Amino acid sequence: MDSYTKLLDGYARFRGQYLSEENTPWRNWAKDGQSPKIMIIACSDSRVNPVIITNSGLGEIFIVNNVANLVPPYKQDAETYHGTSAAIEFAVTQLKVEHIIIMAHSGCGGIRALLTDDQPNSDKDFSFIRPWMKIVDKAAEFTTTEKSTMNLEALASVCERRASLISLNNLMGFPWVHEALLEKKLQVHAWHFDIGSGILQAYNENTEQFEELI
Ligand SMILES: [Zn+2]
Repeated sequence: MDSYTKLLDGYARFRGQYLSEENTPWRNWAKDGQSPKIMIIACSDSRVNPVIITNSGLGEIFIVNNVANLVPPYKQDAETYHGTSAAIEFAVTQLKVEHIIIMAHSGCGGIRALLTDDQPNSDKDFSFIRPWMKIVDKAAEFTTTEKSTMNLEALASVCERRASLISLNNLMGFPWVHEALLEKKLQVHAWHFDIGSGILQAYNENTEQFEELI
């Protein structure tokens, strides 16, 4: 079965399951609109799907997918297009989500591009990825000793986590996010998902470490 036929086959099964008369939640969502309490900012990577990883259903998670799950700094600028910022604004001011999670992951292509930028045959000529990854440039700053003692995989692992914390910090710089945090209506989290082991870690601000969630 080719990839497109497989997609249609999956849709046929979905339609049979969701459009049945007994599926009351589905009917209610259509009538009343969505009201998810969770927002997740995840990478576009096809292996990192927050709904599947958390065993959630449709209507439960408001998701933004972008390259390397980044949050840009708060900046009102009519000259550029702020897709991620617009989604955060909608989630916080309209949906009034209670949690926003930035979900990093192992083997991230965006992070890899950032780390190999100064190497020959790097991806630095990409028109859009390079400027986008600039948001987390600082996450890729390593000492000469670190560079000589850690392999690319180890550096990437650190960089993925650091980048999620830069995004977390940027997220808290949005005025309505800041306000909701002060009013204790919102909590923000940085997660890291290891694709190979399936282990999910969260940043603990008390220990300043990423720790296994369960
Ligand atoms: Zn990624």
